[in-house]
Amino acid sequence: MFLNVNATSYCGMHLIDEEALQVYDYREQLKLNQSSARMNDDGQLITIPVKVHIFGTSAGEQRYNIESLLVQLDELNESYLPTGFYFYLVPDINIVDNDMFIGDGDKDVARKLLGNMISRHYHYGAVNIYYTSNTGLCGMAPFPFMSDEYGGRTGVLMDINCSKPGEMTLPHEFGHHFDLLHTFQGSDSENSLYSEYVTRIDSLKNCTYAGDGFCDTPADILDYSCPYTGDAKDLRGQYYVPDVSLIMSYHADRCQNKFSEQQIQHMREVVFNDTARTVYLKNQIADFSGVEATSLLLPTNNEEVEHSTPTVFKWDEVDGADAYLLSIVTGSGSRENPIYQSVIIGQTSHEYNFSNRYKGRTIGWKVTAFKWTQPNAIVSEKKYVKVVDPIPTSIYNRESYTFNPYPNPVNPGGSVQINLFDGERTNISQPIHVQLTALNGQLVFDQLLDFSNNQASFGLDDRIQSGIYFMSFELGDKNYRAKIIVQ
Ligand SMILES: [Zn+2]
Repeated sequence: MFLNVNATSYCGMHLIDEEALQVYDYREQLKLNQSSARMNDDGQLITIPVKVHIFGTSAGEQRYNIESLLVQLDELNESYLPTGFYFYLVPDINIVDNDMFIGDGDKDVARKLLGNMISRHYHYGAVNIYYTSNTGLCGMAPFPFMSDEYGGRTGVLMDINCSKPGEMTLPHEFGHHFDLLHTFQGSDSENSLYSEYVTRIDSLKNCTYAGDGFCDTPADILDYSCPYTGDAKDLRGQYYVPDVSLIMSYHADRCQNKFSEQQIQHMREVVFNDTARTVYLKNQIADFSGVEATSLLLPTNNEEVEHSTPTVFKWDEVDGADAYLLSIVTGSGSRENPIYQSVIIGQTSHEYNFSNRYKGRTIGWKVTAFKWTQPNAIVSEKKYVKVVDPIPTSIYNRESYTFNPYPNPVNPGGSVQINLFDGERTNISQPIHVQLTALNGQLVFDQLLDFSNNQASFGLDDRIQSGIYFMSFELGDKNYRAKIIVQ
């Protein structure tokens, strides 16, 4: 039975008979070499490190959404819970902007693309996942018997078009990585010698050496429907009754949620015995505790921020967090798109400069606190900023005067110093009216200040809340204005 398939939902691991035979042979060898003593089955999690590489174009576009990555890793762990595997991140996420790692839409060159990635970006001892775009595939992951083709290295290629939360390509490709064949192996080619029969009657069945090689996965065909609506028959004329919930099938992602017992057992055998994969077991982690969500501090919700000058984003520190993911996004729901993402380690603030193309737009931002060992991260609430034109510098600085409040940002209740000078110091003998205005126009501070040596200072009322304020005063015929952040 041969079906035309939609290239965008295609997996790169369609094996011809000769390759399927190599998988069956590999499994025989694995059983012979297996040291069963190493098959720990005491219910303890087997922790496996994952190194993530994200490839963007040379212009820094088309990068995979890291927030989705954290959700997908969590979903991966859920899918693999029955195997006892637990996948955790190796810091840091490797981001590479280079057109050479972006596909050209031809799925037949994806194998070569993956070879390039594996040879240039590789973390030894971890499952390396390579996220890129335009591969013409959803993903691919070489089988253990193919290790020699990649110099003994391994890897999983993922197209970002099939990597949204809820999509099952990642657990599916990991299945290939751990030596699972498609449940429809052999049935997608008319002349296959390894097409699996539906029957499980002992004298008639061929499930141990055809199809995916497992007898507890029903014979399947390449079919996307769920529930199964086809009426195809196997080579003996029996109707297929596929299990649409199997992750190694092609049935709709929303229906896929499991591996069979034999598939699970085999993946464990592979991890404990395959030469290129036992290395994952080297460092077992024991910490599975998560972290709380963070709260966003600055800018305040719906605050106006200027394009072309850096905006400081600030959030609360979270106990135990290893890193924070700042996502600045347009749109919402399924149409949400990051315009900027950064994984920030050891800090709770970050500067971003909106370009003027965002002028007049309302842009969302949020922060995900996470631990490398715990991809089950919780994203913060989402807040918004309005991107506006910068205040002309002529207002800040007329003629040769400069005006910088210090410190800036300042803590609530803190004291602020004003320094005024030009090349030759100007003596200011009269007290000056200094005002602080909130973005909504509310006057929150108004005092006469004495300047000496062109300097004045004052204390902020600690009832003045976090936010951005304009400080202004007049001197002679000039108006002075500066922005100050209370954090
Ligand atoms: Zn596949």
